[in-house]
Amino acid sequence: MAAIAMRDSDTASEWIRDAYRVLYQLAKKQGNASAALQNYEKYVAQNQGYLNDVTARTIAFQTVQQQSLTRKLEAEELSRQNSILKLQQQLDAKAVETGRLYIVLLLIGLTAIVLWLLRLKHSQMRFRHMATRDGLTGILNHQHFIHESERQLRQLERKAAHASMLWMDLDHFKQINDTHGHAAGDAMLRHVVRVCQDHLRPGDLFGRLGGEEFGILLLECESDHAVAIADRIRLAIENAPMDHEGQLLKVSASVGVASSCSAGHALQRLCRRADAALYRAKRGGRNRVVVDTGEEMSAFA
Ligand code: GH3
Ligand code: MG
Ligand code: MG
Repeated sequence: MAAIAMRDSDTASEWIRDAYRVLYQLAKKQGNASAALQNYEKYVAQNQGYLNDVTARTIAFQTVQQQSLTRKLEAEELSRQNSILKLQQQLDAKAVETGRLYIVLLLIGLTAIVLWLLRLKHSQMRFRHMATRDGLTGILNHQHFIHESERQLRQLERKAAHASMLWMDLDHFKQINDTHGHAAGDAMLRHVVRVCQDHLRPGDLFGRLGGEEFGILLLECESDHAVAIADRIRLAIENAPMDHEGQLLKVSASVGVASSCSAGHALQRLCRRADAALYRAKRGGRNRVVVDTGEEMSAFA
């Protein structure tokens, strides 16, 4: 009863319940039925309260346990979502990388195509160039010189402008080959071409007709001027010896000049007249320029 008196609240507890149980058993033993019943009722009430308290605590514990489990599950779910996001990020990065790779491959492909086209264009131009040029000197070959001269003469005729044809042959060229060898002869041909080019304008036509014979079509150039240019070329050739293995080799040239002013714009006639003039330059002693007199070489084809 002292223990019961010590309680500080009405809440049920295990030891109060036990105290009432002892009081009830005591009263029962003493035969005090009313006190026993009274204590028993209190014992039952305390027991009920205690059981309620235990149940409440169990429920609270289970609730907390449930909440902690829920939080754990939520945490796991969040971590799973996090991993998915990370994977998604990695996938996105890979997609960007793949995209870049495709762009690089595309650029490489395009570059290869462009390079291939450039090479194709380059070889086309090279073949076209080779088809029109003389292999040794790089100037126009006979066929292309004739073709271009014909075209230019037609244009000049329409404009009522004139052109002059120079037919040039190196003098005693065979001797260079015989004395110094064929390679020296080749070098001399290239050397003479370079010397001539210094005296020509960009539009003038310069072709190798064969061997050591050359043709020059001076555009918009009348007879007197053409003779002056031809003589300048002849002098330049004479005064520009070629260095061959430490030895200076000299050569001279004979030139025949014919102009459209007197021969007209027909290419064949112009060539026949220039050739005839050249023939006369050779007959006259070589290393000279002779101008057309109206006489023609019938052998020209
Ligand atoms: P001319 O004064 O009468 O013209 O005498 P030439 O010796 O120049 O004339 P010819 O026609 O007798 O000889 C031409 C020589 O040119 C013969 C040939 O050996 C030489 N020749 C022709 N084409 C080439 C060539 O491509 N290279 C070399 N090195 N020589 C050539
Ligand atoms: Mg010749
Ligand atoms: Mg010759």
